[in-house]
Amino acid sequence: MAENKKEMIRVYDAEAKTYKEVEKVKKTAEEWKKELSAAEYHVACEKGTDRPFADDMHKNKRKGQYKCTACGLDLFSSEAKFDSGTGWPSFWQPIDKANVGMQVDKSHGMERTEVYCPRCGAHLGHVFDDGPNPTGQRFCINSSALKFKEAQEKRDDIIKEAQFEKATFAGGCFWCMEPFLEKMKGVISVTAGYIGGDVANPTYEEVSSGETGHAEAVEVVFDPKVVTYAQLLRVMWFNIDPTAVNSQFADHGTQYRTAIFYHNEEQKKLAEDSKKALAGSGKFDKPIVTEIVEATTFYPAEDYHQDYYKKNPVRYNIYHHGSGREQTLNKIWGKERKE
Ligand code: FE
Repeated sequence: MAENKKEMIRVYDAEAKTYKEVEKVKKTAEEWKKELSAAEYHVACEKGTDRPFADDMHKNKRKGQYKCTACGLDLFSSEAKFDSGTGWPSFWQPIDKANVGMQVDKSHGMERTEVYCPRCGAHLGHVFDDGPNPTGQRFCINSSALKFKEAQEKRDDIIKEAQFEKATFAGGCFWCMEPFLEKMKGVISVTAGYIGGDVANPTYEEVSSGETGHAEAVEVVFDPKVVTYAQLLRVMWFNIDPTAVNSQFADHGTQYRTAIFYHNEEQKKLAEDSKKALAGSGKFDKPIVTEIVEATTFYPAEDYHQDYYKKNPVRYNIYHHGSGREQTLNKIWGKERKE
C-alpha cells in the first residue's frame, strides 16, 4: 500500500437506502492490475475509453444497480438509465451526488467534465448537458467501469421460478469453499460473500477487520431435483474443521467461524441431524462448534474474490496448500472424503 492512513467519505448506500461512511480505497497500479482485467484497468486507471457497443451493457434493461468495477461503490440505478444511441451505458443522474466525482478534463483539445469514482478514484466517463428530462444531463459511462448487480428481489424470483434452492455455508476462507461445491452435479452457482454481521454491504476490508460481525461464506444455488441439501451438507462437513473456534486452518478471527445458515425449517432439521451424527461419529475428540443459524442477508463479495481459484490459480494453490486445509482434512477422513 502506498499509504496506510484511513480516509473516510460519506456516500449513499442504495440497498440500505441510507448514507454511510466508507473507507477510501487506495491501491497501487500493481495492485489494481492484479484485480482488474486489462480493459477495466485501461479505463479505470488510465482514463481509457471502451469502444462503443463494446458489449451489451448499453442496452441492458434489467432492474438493479450499477457499481464501480474497481471498488463496488453504488454509482447508478437502472431507474435512471436510458438508451442514448451512443453505444455506451447512459444515465440521466447518478444514484446520489455524493457517489460521483466530477472535474474539468481538457484532454484531446476539448473541454469536458470527467466523471470518476470518489471512493477509489477510478475514471468512469464524462457527463454532457444534452441528456433527457428531468435533469438534461447525460452521464456517458464506460461499461468496463461498471459492474451490474441485478436487484436482489429479481434474483430470488428467478431462483423460485426455476424451483432451485439456496444453501449458505461458512467454512473459513471463501476462496477454498468454492471449488469443491462448484464441482457438484446439480449445483447451479456458488457465490463468495459475507453474512451474519450487522452492517449492510460490507467490504472485504471491513469484514477482515473482524468488526462487522460477518463471516466469510458461500451461497450455493442448487437444483434439489439433482442434488439434495443433505448431500451438500455431507460434502461441506468433509471440507471444514468443525472443531475450530473462530478460526479455520491458517486464518483466525470471528470472520472465519464455521456456520450453516439455514433457509427453512427443513434445512435447519437436516443441518442439526447431520451435526449430531458427526459428533457421534468418533472422528473428532473435540466438540463440534459449527453454528446452525437462520440465514440473514447475504452480501456477495467483490468481483476479484469470485472464482479466485480459477482467476489466480498460482496464488490460490500456494494459499490453499500453505493453510494446511487439505492435509488436515485428509488425515481426519482418509479415503471417505474422496468418494
Ligand atoms: Fe470505485
